[in-house]
Amino acid sequence: MAPDSTTADPVVVQRERMVAHHIAEHRKHNRIRNQQVLRVMRITPRHLFVPASERRMAYEDCALPIGYGATISQPYIVALMSDLLAPTKEHRVLEVGSGSGYQTAILAQLAAQVYSLEIVPELAQCAARILRDQGIRNAVVREGDGYQGWPEEAPFDRIMITAAPTAIPAALIEQLRPGGRLVAPVGAASYQELILLDKGGDGRIVQRSCGEVVFVPMKKE
Ligand code: SAH
Repeated sequence: MAPDSTTADPVVVQRERMVAHHIAEHRKHNRIRNQQVLRVMRITPRHLFVPASERRMAYEDCALPIGYGATISQPYIVALMSDLLAPTKEHRVLEVGSGSGYQTAILAQLAAQVYSLEIVPELAQCAARILRDQGIRNAVVREGDGYQGWPEEAPFDRIMITAAPTAIPAALIEQLRPGGRLVAPVGAASYQELILLDKGGDGRIVQRSCGEVVFVPMKKE
């Protein structure tokens, strides 16, 4: 995605402030050090991924409603989860919960290919359209249930879940390549632990918690 042409554009100034103030220099939380994550968040027009009614809030550090009970995640959390996932240009990534498509767009600029599943058909269509309009060609959005994963395209080097299950779905752990990594909010509806799961080359699973987060629950079909 090309950066906006003029730095005098108020949207570009707001976005720069979002990344510099809310994300890179976050005092309360861990600082995000991954320069690639900060770079793509500087050039991705978050305001185009939210409904028109929410647009003036697009560069504040908060989640915003996008309809159908879904939210676009808080920018700091998008940065944190992208940082923890550590995708590279060689990686094939599965995302569960396309929502607005914003996190998909961020991942697509960091990875080789992104496969994104969304259970709400209208959101899946909308996310696919905006990704196409933004010229992102290495992300595909499919309507489907994240609990099943995307077996036809497995295994994945990286998996990110952006809705909260009460436990990491077994199919997703199975579809993770040995040596791969998964990031997910796991827990009750009110709040969750952000879990970082690594699958060793021998298939052994190691997990650690990276703090508390609040996501919409992952729905069962
Ligand atoms: N990554 C999104 C966050 C969206 S909120 C963004 O950046 O905007 C979580 C999304 O997960 C919602 O759109 C919700 O509809 C979707 N979701 C919930 N349960 C799901 C499931 N079982 N499978 C796939 N998507 C699901």
